Amino acid sequence: MEILVTGGAGYIGSHAVKALAEAGYTPIVLDNLSQGHREFVRQGVFYQGELGDTVLLKKIFTQHDIEAVMHFAALALVGESVSEPAKYYENNVIQTFRLLREMVKHDVKNFIFSSTCAVYGIPEKIPIPEEHLRAPANPYGKTKLAVEHMLEDFSRAYNIKYVFLRYFNAAGADYRAGIGEDHFPETHLIPIVLDAAMGRRKKVNVFGTDYPTRDGTCIRDYIHVADLAQAHMLAAKYLKEDRESGAFNLGIGQGFSVREVIDIVEEVTGKKISISEAPRREGDPPVLIADSTRAINVLRWKPEYSSLEDIISSAWEWHKRKPGNVLK
Ligand code: UDP
Repeated sequence: MEILVTGGAGYIGSHAVKALAEAGYTPIVLDNLSQGHREFVRQGVFYQGELGDTVLLKKIFTQHDIEAVMHFAALALVGESVSEPAKYYENNVIQTFRLLREMVKHDVKNFIFSSTCAVYGIPEKIPIPEEHLRAPANPYGKTKLAVEHMLEDFSRAYNIKYVFLRYFNAAGADYRAGIGEDHFPETHLIPIVLDAAMGRRKKVNVFGTDYPTRDGTCIRDYIHVADLAQAHMLAAKYLKEDRESGAFNLGIGQGFSVREVIDIVEEVTGKKISISEAPRREGDPPVLIADSTRAINVLRWKPEYSSLEDIISSAWEWHKRKPGNVLK
């Protein structure tokens, strides 16, 4: 039971590799290590290389009996996608096309795709169901939607089965396994607030305090990365049972504002966080909350670690251990 995991040395991918190995699969990881960390991959087989390297893909698909592909490898910064869209279309769409074309050539039928709530754009309805109109508000979301469309067409023509997993806000860490969030540059709220708690940053900029929400700051649905990893393993099982292709939201169904996240970080770490009220960040919807009923009912997904306290405590434990981080 070999599964190709692209981006398996990255934040979410490495947690999925661990979940797959624990469920008896052999992860075959392909990662160019542009954001990933070689030491995050402790199970399976590792290949360093580009997603669109058709020679390497051919070798992998020939040497291994790949039953499904999990595709994590992507660029995922909204702001950067606005200033450098070419990079996003090249990496997220063109490279993915090459991967899909090789899959078709080698008769690999199952694809599990790291999609995102960014495909919905500014939601018309909260919580957001999977049927919600897909109208992404930035190039990052558009590249993810382009891949969804590509798979829908490939599925009709070449009999590929797919699962789109639309993540909300991934956070937390399996720190006991030595894996967690480690991006450069870091732009995500929770690691930034934890950096401030460690004294590595003087203050946290709160982007927008005049949103139509309970305290004026944006509300997000934070989901523990280990729960996301479980959903991937369940999606692999689901496709093995030859069930229908489909999309699944992955969130907890509850939203927390930026200020609420900062408050919980203060409680968990015992450190005072200085904040600075900053202008809105372009492209940020005021509220994103998932309706994940389908994943719960159909994939039999049971998020276990996703109380915000658990998420932040695990992220804090990781943050203190992260190579290069020293508590001040
Ligand atoms: N945010 C913030 N300050 C920061 C980083 C993020 O106020 O330094 C806000 C951001 O505007 C958004 C929320 O925190 O409303 C979550 O942002 P993040 O980048 O973590 O995830 P996103 O929702 O963009 O995927």
